[in-house]
Amino acid sequence: MPSPTHDGSPPLRILQGSPASRGIAFGRISFLHRYASGPSRRPIDDVDAECSRFEKARLHAISQLGALYEASLEKLGDQNAVVFQIHQLMLEDPDYVSSINNYIRKEKCNAEYAVHVVAHRFVEQFLAMDNDYMRSRATDIIDCSRRINEILLMHSGSLKGKSLRFDSPPPVILATDDLVPSETVQLDPDTVTGIVTSKGSQRSHTVIFARALAIPNVICLGDQLTPDLEGHLAIVDGSTGQLIIDPDEAAITEYTARKKTDDAQAAHLEQFRGKDTVTRSGHRIELYANAGSLADLDLVIASDAEGIGLFRSEYIYLQESDYPTEEQQFKIYKKVLEGMGGRRVIIRTLDIGADKQAEYFLLKKEDNPAMGLRAIRLCLQNRGIFKTQLRALFRASVYGRLAIMFPMITTVDEVLECRKICDEVRAGLKASNIPYAEHIEIGIMIETPAAAVISDELAPLVDFFSIGTNDLTQFTLAADRQNADLPGYFNPYHHAVFRLIDNTIKNAHQAGIWVGMCGELASDENFTAKLVQLGLDEISVVPSSVLRLRAKIATLG
Ligand code: PEP
Ligand code: MG
Repeated sequence: MPSPTHDGSPPLRILQGSPASRGIAFGRISFLHRYASGPSRRPIDDVDAECSRFEKARLHAISQLGALYEASLEKLGDQNAVVFQIHQLMLEDPDYVSSINNYIRKEKCNAEYAVHVVAHRFVEQFLAMDNDYMRSRATDIIDCSRRINEILLMHSGSLKGKSLRFDSPPPVILATDDLVPSETVQLDPDTVTGIVTSKGSQRSHTVIFARALAIPNVICLGDQLTPDLEGHLAIVDGSTGQLIIDPDEAAITEYTARKKTDDAQAAHLEQFRGKDTVTRSGHRIELYANAGSLADLDLVIASDAEGIGLFRSEYIYLQESDYPTEEQQFKIYKKVLEGMGGRRVIIRTLDIGADKQAEYFLLKKEDNPAMGLRAIRLCLQNRGIFKTQLRALFRASVYGRLAIMFPMITTVDEVLECRKICDEVRAGLKASNIPYAEHIEIGIMIETPAAAVISDELAPLVDFFSIGTNDLTQFTLAADRQNADLPGYFNPYHHAVFRLIDNTIKNAHQAGIWVGMCGELASDENFTAKLVQLGLDEISVVPSSVLRLRAKIATLG
């Protein structure tokens, strides 16, 4: 999209994508072309030999991934390196392996071609899923399948080693359709100053890595990212999601100044690292971060959050093709609690349903799923699923400071029932001599108008409240939070929402419990003074906003 200039010079060419990792980067655009062509098909007589060629390459790839995991542990931390273990699991998946062997046998063709075809079939299945996380896994299938093919080609002498290469001299802005994790970990921020992709998703590992490595990243540029841009000088603005092509001197001066301001702001915020979150008058607020999965843990730790105010446990379920077992969940909760080293971690129990669907739950199609059988309602109707999660949580509780929170509460009975089930889970663990922490805070989300209105009745039953302004706004104002055509109606600043927040805080304090906020409104600096004035005890925000909010709170009276 051209942008008008004031001095008569030709308009700047600005491509608009989605912001993914903040910051400004200058460099020459350099494309990766690896997906341009797939392996060609060759007829094979000895299919057994071809299957065993595939098997050798597969085992080789699995051992390479083990080595990559070890090598990237130090550079990126366990939470990011774990993707190589995920790739190992993908290459061990019986469905994937048998599909390739069957293809070789049926089509009597070379292993490289079979791997390529089967991988793309899996990709199509993933991309068709109604879930951002699962869609972002598609690049992982491509990545680990490409690894097998590189090994096959290397063994046949067709490929002599391969690493990321750029046609342009550094600094480069890496341009591609989407990056896969094993490529991202090879990136050196001194060479690659920015990343731009035509596809991508906010939840992809590429974006997580880009943020971890502080590389400005713009995704979803679509067809605008054309090959003729190779070698062009460009500026990536990771905060606005813009890619400025062939910037003139005025633009370079402007963005250099903005980069300086950004750097100065980031440096300014660094003085708040390791500090308490307090107002000028000494009023202390707990400033926590929200996390969506284990992969976010490093971001939370790097953000200097004082705890996790909302761990959306449903992402564990969304990542799986079947119910995650108690053991699987236990390992994740344990890692999060250990990672947070004694800081409070509020894990919200399964909030599935509405926009968060996992096929294996076989949920009935509902006319109004946001107000249907979801979250705590579903757990109370499916005690087995609920108890599995609670057992995993209680078992993990000895590894840190766990708090458990129930979503979408509307009645006193629901809370009493949840507490009763917690008691049953405790009793079961005790009978089996399995340890759990003696005191675990139990809280609820206040995200329905009903809960906010009867917060005086709910407060004596729990240890804390956390206000979910996303759902509270949607239900108070009858404005679907997913509906992009209702911007004026979905208004968290509406005084109806504000009164419910006020009521909730007052009732919590009256009963002597603390109250936090984990909805998006908590990140809004324009609202921070109000929230503090209302007496909120805890605020939980996206990791990248933690230091910014601590700085803001430090300015308040
Ligand atoms: C909320 O509703 O405000 C909330 C934090 O929960 P979620 O966004 O996961 O529904
Ligand atoms: Mg909610």
